[in-house]
Amino acid sequence: TMTMMAAGSKPKKIVVLGGDGFCGWPTSLYLSEKGHDVIIVDNLSRRNIDNELGCSSLTPIESPETRVKAWEKVSGRTMRFVNLDVARDYQELVQLFLAEKPDAVVHFAEQRAAPYSQKGAKQKRYTVDNNVSGTNNLLVAVVESGLDIHVVHLGTMGVYGYGTSGGEIPEGYIDVILPGGRPSSILHPAYPGSVYHTTKCLDALLFQFYNKNDGIRVTDLHQGIVWGTNTPQTIKDERLINRFDYDGDYGTVLNRFIMQGALGVPLTVYGTGGQTRGFIHITDTARCIEIAVSNPPQAGEKVQIFNQIAETLRVGDLAKLVAEKTGVDINYLKNPRLESAENELEVANRKFRGLGLDPILLDSNLGLVDEVKTIAAKYADRCVREKILPASFWNRRREAECEANT
Ligand code: NAD
Repeated sequence: TMTMMAAGSKPKKIVVLGGDGFCGWPTSLYLSEKGHDVIIVDNLSRRNIDNELGCSSLTPIESPETRVKAWEKVSGRTMRFVNLDVARDYQELVQLFLAEKPDAVVHFAEQRAAPYSQKGAKQKRYTVDNNVSGTNNLLVAVVESGLDIHVVHLGTMGVYGYGTSGGEIPEGYIDVILPGGRPSSILHPAYPGSVYHTTKCLDALLFQFYNKNDGIRVTDLHQGIVWGTNTPQTIKDERLINRFDYDGDYGTVLNRFIMQGALGVPLTVYGTGGQTRGFIHITDTARCIEIAVSNPPQAGEKVQIFNQIAETLRVGDLAKLVAEKTGVDINYLKNPRLESAENELEVANRKFRGLGLDPILLDSNLGLVDEVKTIAAKYADRCVREKILPASFWNRRREAECEANT
C-alpha cells in the first residue's frame, strides 16, 4: 500500500493547481523531472491581474501551451495544461479528478499578494471569494470523487502573526491546557495581517474540518517569502523562464530589492526595516513540495503542517546587503501596511530538515543574488518604474499618512 512504501520510491500522478504561477511553474517542472506525471491547472487570473495593474512580469513569460511544448522538447517529458477556474468550475474539477485519478493535488491557485488584497473593495472581495471558494471546491471535489487524493497546500508564515508568540514558532500546532485542565494540541492561534493572510487562516479551518469529517489527507505548508527566479529546470530554455514580479503589489521583498539594485533605483524599505521575515529560495520551494508529496500523512492522521522556510532575516539588513552590492541608496518610506515596526521571528523547520532538506541560505549563496541581478538587468527595459512604489494601503488613514509624507 501507499503508506507502506518507502518515501519517494514511486512516481505519482500530480495535479498542480496554479501551475502557471511564480511558485507553481518551477515546481511543476521539478516534479516532472523527478519522474512524476504532472497536469497543470490554471485559469490565468494572475496574467489578467497583470493587465489590470498595467504591469507584467519583468521576464517575458511564454503562454502555458508554449511552455509545456518547450519542456517536452527539452526534457522529453509531457505535461498537460488545463484552463479551469478552481473557484468556479466545480464540475470540471470533479470530472478531472475522476478521469485522471491523481495521487496528489498541489494547491497554489490563490490570489497571493497581501497589498493587492488590501487595495479596495473589489480586491478584498475577490481575494476571499477566489481563495476560500477554491479551497472549499478542491476539498469537496476530493470527497465527491471518492478517491484518496493527498492535498498539499501552499500556505504562509503570515497565518501565525509576526512577533506574537514570543518564542520559536512551532510547526502548526501548540500544546495547551484547556480550561478545565485537559491537555490538548490545537492549531496555532491565527493572527492574520491582511485580507490575503485571513484567507489562508480560513483555509486552515477548512482543512481541519474535511480532514476530521471525511478523512482527507492534507499537508499544509506554511511558506516564507520566496526569492530567486531561476531553478535548474527553468534555466534550460528561455521559453521556460519563470515570472518575476517587481511591482508594489506583487513584488516580494528580496526580489524587489535586487531588481531595484540592478536598475539603479533606491531600495524601498517600509518604516525602519525592522521587520523580520522568513525566506526560502524558489529552488527549495520545488524541493519541499516534492518531499511533501512523497511523504503523505497516514490515513486517519490529522492535517500535517510544515514550516517551509530556510531562515529568517531582517528586511533592513537585506536592504543594506543589496545596497552594498549594488551601490544604490535606501529610500525609507512610511509603511503602507499596519504591522509592528520591529519584530523578532524564530521559526522551527525541523520537519523538512528531518526529511533531508538542506536549504539554500542567503549568506553562503550570494552568487544567487547576482544571478537574479543579471536577469533583472537583462530585462530592465521591460520595467515600468512608477509601478515599483507601494500602490495599496492597509486603510484610508494609513493612505492619508503615506501621502502626507511624500
Ligand atoms: P502566483 O500568483 O504567481 O501564482 C498563483 C497561480 O494561481 C497563478 O498562475 C494564477 O493564475 C492561479 N490561480 C489563482 N486563482 C485561480 C483559480 N481560481 N483557478 C485557477 N488558477 C488560479 O503566486 P505564487 O507566488 O506562485 O504563489 C503560489 C502560492 O504560494 C500561493 O497560494 C501563495 O499564497 C503561496 N506563497 C507564495 C509566496 C511567495 O513569496 N511568492 C510565499 C508564501 C506562500
